[in-house]
Amino acid sequence: MSLRPPTDGNNSEEIPFARRLVASRRITSSRFRYFLLGSVFLTLFTVFIALNFFPNPEISISTNRGKLKARISKDGLLLGHFPYKEVSKDKLASVYPGMEVHKSVARDLANMRASAAAQGVQLIVISGFRSIDLQRQIFYENKSARNQIAIERAKVSAPPGYSEHSTGFAVDFGDGTMRSTDFEVEFEKTPAYLWLKKNAAKFHFVLSFPKNNIQGVSYEPWHWRYEGTVEALKEFEPANRKRRRKR
Ligand SMILES: [Zn+2]
Repeated sequence: MSLRPPTDGNNSEEIPFARRLVASRRITSSRFRYFLLGSVFLTLFTVFIALNFFPNPEISISTNRGKLKARISKDGLLLGHFPYKEVSKDKLASVYPGMEVHKSVARDLANMRASAAAQGVQLIVISGFRSIDLQRQIFYENKSARNQIAIERAKVSAPPGYSEHSTGFAVDFGDGTMRSTDFEVEFEKTPAYLWLKKNAAKFHFVLSFPKNNIQGVSYEPWHWRYEGTVEALKEFEPANRKRRRKR
């Protein structure tokens, strides 16, 4: 007589009950894991879609150039400008009365102006450090104070809290022999601008808003920023990263 078990038919009956129970539990827990993974994925996907298709709300700003509608972009820019904090007063140095820059800029700035002067170019500083409060006044209120007439003419493009000037590292230059070009695109035709174009880099000054800049800010041939220290470079890294990505 053969003692071999039958080879056909449903052999699940041969699996002991306890083992069957463990197996079914395994199936349930792996289903639960898939469900959990699916939910996490769905949540992330929804957040991604929301961030991309529903941008920050539009805000209306009345500026010295009239009313503007704007919204803070995904990378934190407002009207094309990165946010900047205000440098503390103890880090400022005077260029001339009422005109200050970050003290780490002062020496290179003085050397640059002396170098220009030695070549017959009158490179003057028409704006340096501006507090966020002053930026607010000239951006929103078109403040008229005798010593700010020049800045009013600048048609200041950066909202308060978004100006490179509040870091103390930004300088607006003019040509001492052609003051009518102060804060005007025509500044690009002055000896001062042509000199800057050729020599500013030696003194660590960079044109912040060249023609067709990636930030979409209007062309400002007079506005240069200092990048001659690690602190300054850190300050402008987001702007430089955006510039590098374009290339
Ligand atoms: Zn400027």
